[in-house]
Amino acid sequence: MKTIGSSTAGPDARKTPVFDPATGEQTAEVILATEADVDAAVTRARQAARQWADTSLTARTKIMFSFRELADRHREDLAALITAEHGKVLEDARGEVARGLEVVDFACGMPHLLKGEFSEDVSTGVDASSSRQPLGVVAGITPFNFPVMVPMWMYPVAIAAGNAFVLKPSERDPSASDFIAGLWHEAGLPDGVFTVVHGDSVAVNALLDHPDVSAISFVGSTPVARHVFERATASGKRCQALGGAKNHAVVMPDADLESTADALIAAGFGSAGERCMAISAVVAVGGGDELVDLLKEKALALVTGPGTDPASDMGPLITKVHRDRVAGYVASAQNDGAEVVVDGRDVEVPAGAGGFFLGPCLVDQVTTDMSVYQDEIFGPVLSVLRVDTLDDAIELVNANPYGNGTAIFTRDGAAARRFRRDVQVGMVGINVAIPVPMAYYSFGGWKQSLFGDSHIHGMEGVRFNTRLKSVTTRWPATPAEAGSASLNFPSGDKR
Ligand code: NAD
Repeated sequence: MKTIGSSTAGPDARKTPVFDPATGEQTAEVILATEADVDAAVTRARQAARQWADTSLTARTKIMFSFRELADRHREDLAALITAEHGKVLEDARGEVARGLEVVDFACGMPHLLKGEFSEDVSTGVDASSSRQPLGVVAGITPFNFPVMVPMWMYPVAIAAGNAFVLKPSERDPSASDFIAGLWHEAGLPDGVFTVVHGDSVAVNALLDHPDVSAISFVGSTPVARHVFERATASGKRCQALGGAKNHAVVMPDADLESTADALIAAGFGSAGERCMAISAVVAVGGGDELVDLLKEKALALVTGPGTDPASDMGPLITKVHRDRVAGYVASAQNDGAEVVVDGRDVEVPAGAGGFFLGPCLVDQVTTDMSVYQDEIFGPVLSVLRVDTLDDAIELVNANPYGNGTAIFTRDGAAARRFRRDVQVGMVGINVAIPVPMAYYSFGGWKQSLFGDSHIHGMEGVRFNTRLKSVTTRWPATPAEAGSASLNFPSGDKR
């Protein structure tokens, strides 16, 4: 069995298993870092950061391009690692790698993105400029559901901007991060500029408390995001902590139901619902029977099976505990009076697959007081709620504590505009079920879906990973130009 990570604790080190979710078998064990291991990694990163920040933009960018080429060449290897440890179907894993690489492409343009500003003669003989400088050591803590893409939201921008980056990936699917570390090495990145520390909450807390870590990017569940944000900022760190979600799709009576149902099936059951942008609540305005019939037909047609089988539409869930927890929400919905239209608990999977499978579950007549609606489930459970008007729908979405993504399906431009403007959610789709912004825009939710004021990647990512320096310059050529001492506050309008 493969061993991942290492620790100075030697045989006393704590370990945790990694499973192939499609078979239920353990495939690796991860050695969990101690505080001392984190300290060693951060110390190395701090030393590397100084030299990296002094490396010219041209030289840094050459390495970025080399890394981009290598990662591009190894797309299939990365996708295979994702499927082996996360379980999502291979085609979906390929999509994850592609979306991650877009951030690498964006970061390759860092020389342009870091260009500062310059104003000549803000006062006579005085010039003003601003530039952005790296922070030093930036740490990233990432969730299990996108083991390649979510880290790629962070480190390309941080590294291209001149920081050293310490990644603490999810301990449930850690292999892709080690593979990425190998690619950075091959690309010529100096040792210590990108470091992977495998671990759990002990490693996370050590990073949050470490005085040489300047900034923390976190993506994960809301309770942990809140903890990370509070603890990181308490020690003076910059922090962006992206949390969980409950994403609604509002379906207006005039929507094209066939294509809307296709989009909702993809957004509800893709990656077995283990996406922070998955649609988990459909809000049908003024009806819903015809939509539910279509969703039922399409959900029943989905094939659940191993991610490596090209026939599978949906793979397993990450662990047995998580699979059972998700199935528990279907039972609780039934007890609460909702109607289970498609029950994935009795899903049949191809022979030999003994993994953590749950088929698509469609639950109708859900109300906002039910736990199937209130909690983030993070599995293949699509709930349908019914309301009378668009106003009711917007009120329902806005009353939810999460605000990551949402969508409206309609042919009515006025309704779409109203929704876009009034909905209190960070990422909005109009006839687009999963409105994940491109790499050159920034990703982030509102309310309990993001702690901190900075979204991730795009220009917000560049700003998060750098700090602004403003410089005022004067080069008097003669004593007369230097002038005499004045105790008045200097201003530009006098001369
Ligand atoms: P998680 O919060 O359990 O774990 C995320 C990271 O935090 C992991 O690296 C984990 O080791 C660490 N961690 C876990 N418990 C901790 C603790 N008590 N103290 C310190 N660190 C801890 O999340 P997960 O189960 O890996 O991922 C699923 C969650 O991530 C969902 O809630 C999903 O919505 C969210 N997510 C959000 C986004 C987004 O962009 N908003 C994207 C992907 C996933």
